[in-house]
This record gives sequence, structure tokens and C-alpha cells, in this order.
Amino acid sequence: MIPVTIFAERKLAVVGAGLSGLATARALLEGGADVVVWDDKEAGRAQAAEAGLPVEDLTSADFKSFAALVLAPGIPLTHPEPHWSVKKARTAGIEVIGDVELFFRQRDVSGASCKVIAITGTNGKSTTTALTAHLLESAGRDVALGGNIGNAVLDLAPFAPGRTYVLELSSYQIDLTPTLKPDAAALLNVTPDHLDRHGSLEGYASVKARIFAQLGPGATAVIGVDDVPCRAIAESLEGPYAVKRIAIGHAVENGVWAADATLIEMEGAHEVGRADLAGIGSLRGAHNWQNAATAYALARSQDVDADALQAGLRSFGGLAHRMEQVARAGKILFVNDSKATNADAAGKALGSFDNIYWILGGVPKDGGLRGLEPFYPRIVRAYLIGEAAEAFAAQLGDAVPHVACGTLDRAVRQAAEDASRSDADEPVVLLSPACASFDQYANFAKRGDAFRELVLQRQGVASVAV
Ligand code: ADP
Repeated sequence: MIPVTIFAERKLAVVGAGLSGLATARALLEGGADVVVWDDKEAGRAQAAEAGLPVEDLTSADFKSFAALVLAPGIPLTHPEPHWSVKKARTAGIEVIGDVELFFRQRDVSGASCKVIAITGTNGKSTTTALTAHLLESAGRDVALGGNIGNAVLDLAPFAPGRTYVLELSSYQIDLTPTLKPDAAALLNVTPDHLDRHGSLEGYASVKARIFAQLGPGATAVIGVDDVPCRAIAESLEGPYAVKRIAIGHAVENGVWAADATLIEMEGAHEVGRADLAGIGSLRGAHNWQNAATAYALARSQDVDADALQAGLRSFGGLAHRMEQVARAGKILFVNDSKATNADAAGKALGSFDNIYWILGGVPKDGGLRGLEPFYPRIVRAYLIGEAAEAFAAQLGDAVPHVACGTLDRAVRQAAEDASRSDADEPVVLLSPACASFDQYANFAKRGDAFRELVLQRQGVASVAV
């Protein structure tokens, strides 16, 4: 835990008793502040009370008695409309901040020698954050990883000389962090998502761009330039810091670009380094090259040398449920991409393999499989599960042979049997559902775990060692 002393002897309201809210309350109490916790849901309040934290009904509280409102990132700050606690805070004239803001303010006081790397983007945040931490760790650095992935920031190991914090930040967290001041920051990409909470693509992009707003001398901004909003942000970057651009399939000056599973590092127009991604199962697909190039640039900004980076890339195990290579049975590869809860994400996996035996379905999103047609030639057969089965069968039509399997166990059995008759070098049984999981599983992780178990129970299957 990182004790937060900057509000010692003052009183704060913590709204939202999830993991980050509970960590915030504990860190503030440890640092000598007075805290009251509230959650609109009974379960949240019960959790806080169970953790021994002071719970108080804030709906009728006088917010003037608080030094600040610390809001959980899941609670609306602006869109579709400010939460009642935000309105009360504004009326009382107190600031509204998040746990990441407390982290940065506390670092100024007790962790000034620690480096902080912050990563955001619409897609690939978790993979890039985990990979960046792994690259630094495998180069012998002392690393703490958290934020929107794993541990809440205030639950991380306390500030200590030489420790580097690698943080994944969502746009909601950035919104609540007015003095966000990392030593290196990356924005991977910006595509329409979560617009309900940001009003418009411009609003969403401008929140993401704030990750660079306060970079100081010696800091590094790493920015993908393969989508329109990010290109505009890259053009507008101006400050005392270095700017590294990331691109896939075309060269950049100053940055890292990727082509054919190779990362190429440029200083000005000169190539200064290369890394090979070929054969690294956890970094397959052009979207992962973007993640790898970004992590590479971030690690370089912390002076990790190129040899250490190549070794670190090779030993990266990847994250569960994201094109996770779970097992092989002879030539057959089994891949768990349960995190692909919409067509866009499923397209990334479909584009990364050939000879695919594709398991999909669940609760479909608007548009269903729209946009995936270019990948159909890669699919040998589709195995449909869950609520979406009928609609997906209609969408696939004659273009892709398909069969209704109902449940995951039947789909895995049928797909594995079909794949075992393939002549291809590497037939792939791929769970990439393009759907939410809620009709049959509590969440995407439970669905992926079920897939992994079903696969590993099969005879002749060996799990894939990284
Ligand atoms: P996030 O943390 O931003 O949700 P993850 O690293 O967990 O991202 O990846 C989630 C899914 O997003 C992956 O399974 C893949 O389908 C897709 N994805 C990963 N990286 C990228 C990228 N750089 N660009 C586009 N899509 C990506």
C-alpha cells in the first residue's frame, strides 16, 4: 500500500466502494486522513463495512465539510450526466479527483525519485502495460504494475528509490487526474468506444491526449499514428519532452515502426535498432506489433538496451483470454480469445491465423458479425453457441460452413474432431466469441477458463509452455 499523507487530518468523501475505492480509503486512513465511504449499492457498502471502513450516507451530507471527493472511475463525472455526488461537490466548491491523482500528488511528496510510465488507448492497454512491465523487469528493474489492470494504484508497493511504476489508465481515470505527470506516457490508438461516457469522439480523444499535457523535460511521449484522432494529437504535441511515433506497415521518423513481425527503431531518419517478433506466440498479429512497438519505445525511454529488449519480448507470456495459446494436440493449436466480446476484437484474432475452426456466440452486440466478411476465407468451419446462434447462422449464410452447438463443450469437441482431419500445417481451434458472455458465463474470464479446461481435458493435448 502507498500511504497517502497529503490529506492528513482533513476529511474526504470516497464514493464507489470497489477495489480502487477500498484501497483509496485504506491509503488515506493510513496517511492520517479522516474518510467516509459511500456506495449507491448495498453490496458495495457491505464490502466497505466488512473491510472495517467508515460508511456514511452521503446523500444528505454537507459536502463543504470535505476537502475533496474521491470518485471511483466507474462513476460518471460528466456523461451521460454527473453523478449526484459530483453535483454536490461542485455546489460545495470542493475538488473531484480519483485515486491516480492521489498517487501523483503523493509521489511529489514521498516518491520523487520513482519513475512512472502511463499507458492508455482504446485497445491494447492491458497487453502493452503488462509487456512494458515485463520488459523492464527482465532487464532487472524493480517494477510495480497496476492501475486499470491488476492492483489499484494505491495498493501497489510503497515508493522506494529505483522503483518504476507502470500504470494502465482508462480515460475515466485520466479524467479524474488533473495533475497527471508521468515520466513516459503512451497513447496506443483512439477508436469510437465508450462515447456514452465522453459525449463525442473529439471529447474522448481530448481526454486521452491529456496523458501528455504535463510531460516535463526529459520525459517521453509515445503515440500511435495509425488512426485519425491520434495523428491529430501527434501533430499537436509540443513541449520540452521527446516524441516517439509508432506505426504499423509504414516508416516513421523518431519512433518505432513494425512490418513483417519486425520492430524497427528510428532516430530521425536513421535506423538505430531492430527486434524480431517472429515466432513469439503472445505477440502474433499486427495489433500486437503495435502493442510491442509501444512497449519497446517506452522501455527504451528508460534506457533498457536493445539486447535485453529482444530477450524480454521472447519471454513474454501474454495475458490470459487474449489470443492465449492454451494447448496443442499434434498440429492443432487451441487459442482462447474470450476477451473478444465484439466483432472488432474477434477480427484481430481471425486476421492472425489461417485454417480456423471458429467457436463464437453468446450475447451479440449491435451489428453482430458485420465487418468480419474479409476474414471468412480463413475460416474452415464455425461452431455457434449461446443466444447469438440463430442470428449468426443467418449472417454467415453460405459464406462460411457452420454448425449450431449450443454449448461450449459441444463446440470444443466438434471443432477439435474436425481440426484433427485437417491437412493444414497448423489448424487452429479458436474461441473468439464476438459476443458478451452473460447468457452462459458470469464474465469473459469464466468463459475463457471453461474453454481452457475443456481443451486440457482432451486426450493427446499438451499445454503450451511459453
Ligand atoms: P484493453 O486493456 O485496452 O482492453 P487488451 O490488451 O486487454 O486491451 O486487449 C483486448 C483485445 O483488444 C484483444 O483481445 C484484441 O482483440 C484487441 N487488441 C489488442 N491490442 C490491440 C491494438 N493495439 N489495436 C486494436 N485492437 C487490439
